[in-house]
Amino acid sequence: MSKKINLLGYSFESLKVFFFNLGEPEYRAKQLLSWIHQKGVIDFDLMTDFNKDLRNKLKSLSIIKPPEIHKVYLSEEGTKKYLIKLDSGSIIEMVIIPEKNRRTLCVSSQAGCALQCSFCATGAQGFDQDLSSDEIVGQLWLANFNKDNSKSITNVVFMGMGEPLLNYEAVIESAKIMKHQNSYGLSKKRITISTSGIAPKINKLSEDIDVSLAISLHAPDDKLRDQIVPINKKYPINSLMQACKDYLNNFESKKNITMEYIMIDGVNDSMNHAKKLAALLSNISCKINLIPFNSFKGSDYKRSKNSSMKSFKNYLMSKGFITTLRVTRGDGVDAACGQLVGELSNTIKGKNIIKHKSI
Ligand code: SAH
Ligand code: SF4
Repeated sequence: MSKKINLLGYSFESLKVFFFNLGEPEYRAKQLLSWIHQKGVIDFDLMTDFNKDLRNKLKSLSIIKPPEIHKVYLSEEGTKKYLIKLDSGSIIEMVIIPEKNRRTLCVSSQAGCALQCSFCATGAQGFDQDLSSDEIVGQLWLANFNKDNSKSITNVVFMGMGEPLLNYEAVIESAKIMKHQNSYGLSKKRITISTSGIAPKINKLSEDIDVSLAISLHAPDDKLRDQIVPINKKYPINSLMQACKDYLNNFESKKNITMEYIMIDGVNDSMNHAKKLAALLSNISCKINLIPFNSFKGSDYKRSKNSSMKSFKNYLMSKGFITTLRVTRGDGVDAACGQLVGELSNTIKGKNIIKHKSI
């Protein structure tokens, strides 16, 4: 018997084709999206506007199955970090960050990552596998409908484990579900795809979906970026900047790209770096998000000094850039994505014990 398909990861367009092949009208796609992603219902028998024949047909062909929560960590500030187990047994992370007026979910797009940025705990683990669209949107489903979550997610950022643009099709399919009016209905401003700079895919993105884009820039010249973001050797800064310009030109309405810049002590945080960065970004419509480096076991880097981060930020603001400095809330559960899975695999190897509170 062939494997049943998981409809959790089907966008409106894909469901339309699926129902068409069953001889069913288009509105079935909207009904099913709404059952799964608005009401949180994944049992076909509870879908009362589908007749029994159709329910049986659906059951024989398909399942609706979110991934499994393996462990939950809670910080004092309210951030919740989840370890999620995929069907393959691989573990990924997702994080819920509650703020005053929003509730942001950070999703993973791959288990591990092949790109090995020097400051990243996920990169240090290497690449394990791509996530399917149901495993990606399944994180949002769990964050909204899992019994310990009473409030809905308002924003999604693809800033967990993995490089979203190297798992392109599944990321686009899941983002389409996140946006659709009959499912989560998140606006383009509330979904952010973050990339380390896969230049050819950046341009393609503008053809396939309108969401917010963040570039993990982290260095203002090729020499330094080659070292800390090695994918830069394949797509150097000039090709990345050109891709960003082309991307922006493909939209009629005004759009900004967020440039992410991690602050690492003595590596990329001098005034000279700030000046080069301002010059590099001078003709790109963007805002800059400075991210204090989060340390993790095995890394020699240190977070920049507060005084350096402030001067860096002030310089960029004086040059007219909207610049934010991300506040970090301690090194515990809020630590950079990839860290908990790293600690878990160390634990499995008997090297370490997880210190975080587990609920
Ligand atoms: N692969 C994509 C998305 C996942 S990483 C990308 O690189 O953009 C998402 C963000 O987490 C990136 O901006 C990355 O720079 C940041 N990050 C990774 N390791 C970090 C660390 N140790 N401290 C702070 N931020 C980190
Ligand atoms: Fe991969 Fe992003 Fe980490 Fe780089 S920062 S290793 S691209 S997850």
